[in-house]
Amino acid sequence: MDSETARSTPSMDEGFWESPLQKDGDADERLVQVEITSGGLNVDLHIENILKDETLSSFPQSTEDELGVLGFPNMAQSCYMNSTLQSLLTLRVFSQEIEQTEWAWDSVPSAELLRGFVAIRESCQSDNVFQKIYVLESFKSTVALQDPEFEDNRQKDAHEFFISVLNQMRTLYPLLWSAAQDTPGRSYTCPVEAHLLFHMLSTRSCKRCSGQSVTVEAFTNLSLDLEPGDSVCQALDRYLTETPLECDCQCGAKTSAMQLRFLSLPNVLVLHLKRFRFNPDWSLEKVNDAVLLSRDLGLNSGREAETEDSDAMGKYTLVSVLSHIGKSPLSGHYVSDGSFQGKGDTPPDQWLSYNDETVSWTSGSEVCQQRQCTAYLLFYERQVDQAMAWITRQVEMTSGGVNVYLQI
Ligand SMILES: [Zn+2]
Repeated sequence: MDSETARSTPSMDEGFWESPLQKDGDADERLVQVEITSGGLNVDLHIENILKDETLSSFPQSTEDELGVLGFPNMAQSCYMNSTLQSLLTLRVFSQEIEQTEWAWDSVPSAELLRGFVAIRESCQSDNVFQKIYVLESFKSTVALQDPEFEDNRQKDAHEFFISVLNQMRTLYPLLWSAAQDTPGRSYTCPVEAHLLFHMLSTRSCKRCSGQSVTVEAFTNLSLDLEPGDSVCQALDRYLTETPLECDCQCGAKTSAMQLRFLSLPNVLVLHLKRFRFNPDWSLEKVNDAVLLSRDLGLNSGREAETEDSDAMGKYTLVSVLSHIGKSPLSGHYVSDGSFQGKGDTPPDQWLSYNDETVSWTSGSEVCQQRQCTAYLLFYERQVDQAMAWITRQVEMTSGGVNVYLQI
C-alpha cells in the first residue's frame, strides 16, 4: 500500500454528523443457523439489516418536504454524479456488500472511495445539507484523483462516471484481498465483481471454412444501439444476434460472423442505451427515440441445455432508471428513479424520483411511461433469494474457501 500518496477522510467534529432523523437500535436483526455438514461445523450468523433499508423505511408516508432528506444538493452541474449515486444506492445488495466488508477497507488509506460511498449512504439519514455537500465533494475529488476527467465542475456523462467508479472499486480488489489475508477466517469480496460483473463469450465464425475463434470478456454493463420503436428486450436481442464482421480469415475470406452470449449472469444487469451518437460530420447528436422500458427480462447463459443448471437462467426486474433530460448532448439534466422497498405496508410498485435535492413519490409504471424518451441507464436486479445468496457468501468466507454443503 502506498501510504504516502493515499488520502484519508479529513476529520470532522462529531457533533456535525448528528441528525435528528438518525435512528439507532431498531435494526431488523434475524438469527439464522447454518449447518455446514461436510465440515461438521455449526455456524450462527446474525444478519442485520439485510432485508430493509433503515433510512427509506422511515418514510413510508412521508411528504415531499420530508423526502427531501434523501436528496443530494447540486454542486455546480453535479447531477450526473447525484443520479449515478442514487441509482447505485437503490441496489441494496451492492451497498450492503460494501458496508459488510468495512473490516477489510476501513483502515486502508487508498480505499477512500469505499469509505466515501458509505459516508454518502449514511448522509441520506441527515437533513444537514453541509454534511451532504462535504461527502459529495469528497467523493468527487476521490474519483477525480484517478480520473481527472471529473476534476472540474462541468457537466459530465453519467455513464462514464458510473464506469469510472466501478473500475476504481475493482482496482482496489487485489490490495484489499491481500490485506484481508491477515484476518483469520475472512475473505474480502469485491462488490462490483460479486454483483455487477459478468462474462460473455464472443464467437467469430468464418462462413467459408467454418473456422471459429472464441474470446471471453468481462463486462459490468452492456451498451445497446437504439432503433425507433424498440423495446429494451428487442435492443438486447439484437445485441445478442449474430452480426457480420469484417475480418481476415486464414482461408482468405474477408467476412465472418460474430455472436455474443452470456457465460455468466450478474445479480445486477446494467444496460446503457446509446443516446449519444456521432453524425457523419463527427458532430454529436442526442437520440430522443422512445424505447419501451421492459419491466422484466429473461436471460440465459447458454449453459442450461447442457447442465440443467438453474444458475444458467436469470429473471430480472427493473429497479432503477437513470435519465438524461434535454435535446442536446452538450447540455441537459440527469435524474434517477428507483424502486422503494420499505416495510410490509408499502404500496406495490412504489418508487422514488430523485432530482438532486428534490425527491418525490412515483411508481414503476409511471417511470416507464415518463422516461421512454430519456432513459439512459437501466438497472435490473436478478430475482433470487438475496438473503440466501448473502448467507452462501458468508459461509464460503467463514469456511476459508473450503467447499461445503449448505443446509438451512
Ligand atoms: Zn475461413
